[in-house]
Amino acid sequence: MSSPFSRIVVEYRGVQEALRDLEDYVVFTVEPPWSSVKGLLTHPPIETVMVEEVDRETLDANTSRVTHAGTAVGLGGGRAVDAAKYFALKTGCRFVSVPTILAADAYLTPKAGVRIDGVVNYIGDKFADEIVVDQKIIRGAPKRLNRAAIGDIYSARISLLDWRRARDEAGEEYDPAVAAKAEEVLSRLMALAPEIKEVTAGAIRPLVEMHMTLNSLQFPYLQRGKFWPQEGTEHLFFYTLEKLVGRPFVHGDVISTGAVVATYLHGADPEKTKDDLRSFGVDFTAGAVGITYDEFEKTIRSMKRVGKEAGAEYLVVERGAPTESDVREMWRLVSQ
Ligand SMILES: [Zn+2]
Repeated sequence: MSSPFSRIVVEYRGVQEALRDLEDYVVFTVEPPWSSVKGLLTHPPIETVMVEEVDRETLDANTSRVTHAGTAVGLGGGRAVDAAKYFALKTGCRFVSVPTILAADAYLTPKAGVRIDGVVNYIGDKFADEIVVDQKIIRGAPKRLNRAAIGDIYSARISLLDWRRARDEAGEEYDPAVAAKAEEVLSRLMALAPEIKEVTAGAIRPLVEMHMTLNSLQFPYLQRGKFWPQEGTEHLFFYTLEKLVGRPFVHGDVISTGAVVATYLHGADPEKTKDDLRSFGVDFTAGAVGITYDEFEKTIRSMKRVGKEAGAEYLVVERGAPTESDVREMWRLVSQ
């Protein structure tokens, strides 16, 4: 099945070369990396928007202020890319995504995280026309922010647990061929753990390819409001936490925390999840991510409601009711 992902051009080359032929382009970016990247560009953008906030008012103000641009370039992490994505969505211009960290797969998804009345909503669709992967720039970022790329890949393991439960308990349609492809990605991910941990030159391209493969596999299911085989209960944990506390997080780190929680809820093996995550050097602990016990407990208790509000089905959350001791045990698991 052809998906819009197959039409995205992914360029594994330097920004200088990749952006050389752009004429009237506007850059949405953050600091870092803008000051170290802008000198590489052969000609400057017609406008540079430093993205502080991704609330709808600010993004709409950008759209009215920048009157003409043929291409919106999002250069940075999730916020910069989402601001460019939103601008391109509203104005219909081209959209070029230049991720400078891989902590989330937002650089290739069609949804932009936009804060509306204080709460992040994911709106879209705007697919990138082109993604520029400048491996040198990406590898220049703190390692932690690229190790976090595994969050949106390891999530497939949880998604498959969710999907099989939905098949067994709710008669949900299940495609073994799609599941097998997701399993292949997971095997590739685990085999690359030493490279990913060190963020070597051999790690970047496979991470991008794995994000792309899983998003392509997920696409037909997303059309029907399902998330398999890429996202699952760990993402519900993330979205719920984000809604409740309103602070920005490193996506892949919290997704990893959520993966530990989700494997516990599934009655699977959370210790294995922790070992897997540690092999990438990802610190999934509540202390590293920066969440308190109260926030954690509230998140666990609110996942069912948030899932329902989003119209999504997460059977393991819907049909379960974690006891006080379950919450304590999950907190213990994510505390060390
Ligand atoms: Zn994600």
